Amino acid sequence: MSSPDETFRHEFRSWLSEHAPPTIGAATTRAEAECLREWQRTLHGGRWVGIHWPAEFGGRGASPTQVVISNEELARAGAPPLLGRAGVTLVGPTLIAHGTPAQRDRWMPRILSGADVWCQLFSEPGAGSDLANLTTRAEKRGSCYRVTGQKVWSSYAEFADLGICLARTDPAAPPHRGISMIAIPMDAAGVEIRPLRQITGALDFNEVFLDDVSVPVEYLIGPEHGGWQVANTTLANERGASFIWNQQLAHELALRDLVTSCVRQGLNADPVVRQALAQSWIESEIFRLHNARTLSRIARGEPIGSESSLVKLFWAQSSQRLQEAAIAALGPVGLLMADDGDAVDGGRWAHDLLSTRANSIMGGTSEIQRTIIGERLLGLPREPRA
Ligand SMILES: Cc1cc2nc3c(=O)[nH]c(=O)nc-3n(C[C@H](O)[C@H](O)[C@H](O)COP(=O)(O)OP(=O)(O)OC[C@H]3O[C@@H](n4cnc5c(N)ncnc54)[C@H](O)[C@@H]3O)c2cc1C
Repeated sequence: MSSPDETFRHEFRSWLSEHAPPTIGAATTRAEAECLREWQRTLHGGRWVGIHWPAEFGGRGASPTQVVISNEELARAGAPPLLGRAGVTLVGPTLIAHGTPAQRDRWMPRILSGADVWCQLFSEPGAGSDLANLTTRAEKRGSCYRVTGQKVWSSYAEFADLGICLARTDPAAPPHRGISMIAIPMDAAGVEIRPLRQITGALDFNEVFLDDVSVPVEYLIGPEHGGWQVANTTLANERGASFIWNQQLAHELALRDLVTSCVRQGLNADPVVRQALAQSWIESEIFRLHNARTLSRIARGEPIGSESSLVKLFWAQSSQRLQEAAIAALGPVGLLMADDGDAVDGGRWAHDLLSTRANSIMGGTSEIQRTIIGERLLGLPREPRA
């Protein structure tokens, strides 16, 4: 690694030593959301939010390597994910590619500071993997769109100020052509947000009902009816290198914690436990080395394209296997949740066993990734299309 990168790491590490992150992991209440918003404000004060954004938009124009370094330092400091991560990782890059100058001036500084938290209003009850099936409608009337429909699985919608919504603006056009992306103020009349309880008991995501919501035409992002291409920019950023690297790091840190926990309880003498831990370690190393190779290619300006599906699938499977290994090693007591007195490590392993089930669904299911790998990387015949 070159010395400017080492200087960068040193600068961020010393900044973090003076600005301790909050100890909460994710926001499940309004008070926790406010605490995370405050943390984002502090990070932004040091110019450590959205560092990959170009300097003209408030970023540092950081290289992919520096993005990885900053993620590593945040993870080492035990920092929680940003409350405004959808805005920083998805909306900002989408506005840079497709937004108007007025939209960038209005929204981008507020995304970085955490003044505006955004959510992603793409999925619907009948449109997940097949997103082009979406039925939410937006009708232009005068200087406004009137938006009506239902969205689901909208992470952090409850705490969000705005959402990027995909809606059908031309019902007569073929499915991929009549869609537009519109920003929805989450406090607008006609927006109803209902939290959904996950298997972990947390209320991280929501269903969002839109009933004739009036949105100014200036909130259209990209061309009218051209929202599919705009959404592809958003989704490419969702599956981008930064996400992948973050997950590898989280995986490695979880594995280190599991080893510590097993040693503390004397479980490491069991050859079956040792074997399971070694297998998880091998997977973590494969993941890390593959990411390092991908990072080198990105740094050389080479696109990674469909290979991100390979990494997404590997991560989804290995993260679930790690949690299964944890429970197998710890035994039934590992299944106790935080509010059970005898829970190991505060019930963390039981919680993570459940929460990682989502990894093979969100950001594109494992079945969809396998199809992409088969068709685009292996050159197998195309799946029959409905
Ligand atoms: C934790 C979490 C957070 C999320 N956050 C957001 C968010 O903030 N905003 C948002 O818009 N969405 C969000 N989502 C939704 C996510 O994008 C969808 O769940 C995902 O795209 C799958 O869609 P679906 O749930 O409708 O399942 P479906 O598409 O209905 O799939 C059901 C099953 O059928 C399989 N299947 C479907 N089509 C095919 C096919 N062609 N070939 C083979 N198998 C197939 C799938 O793999 C799956 O097993 C989130 C999901 C999770 C789990």
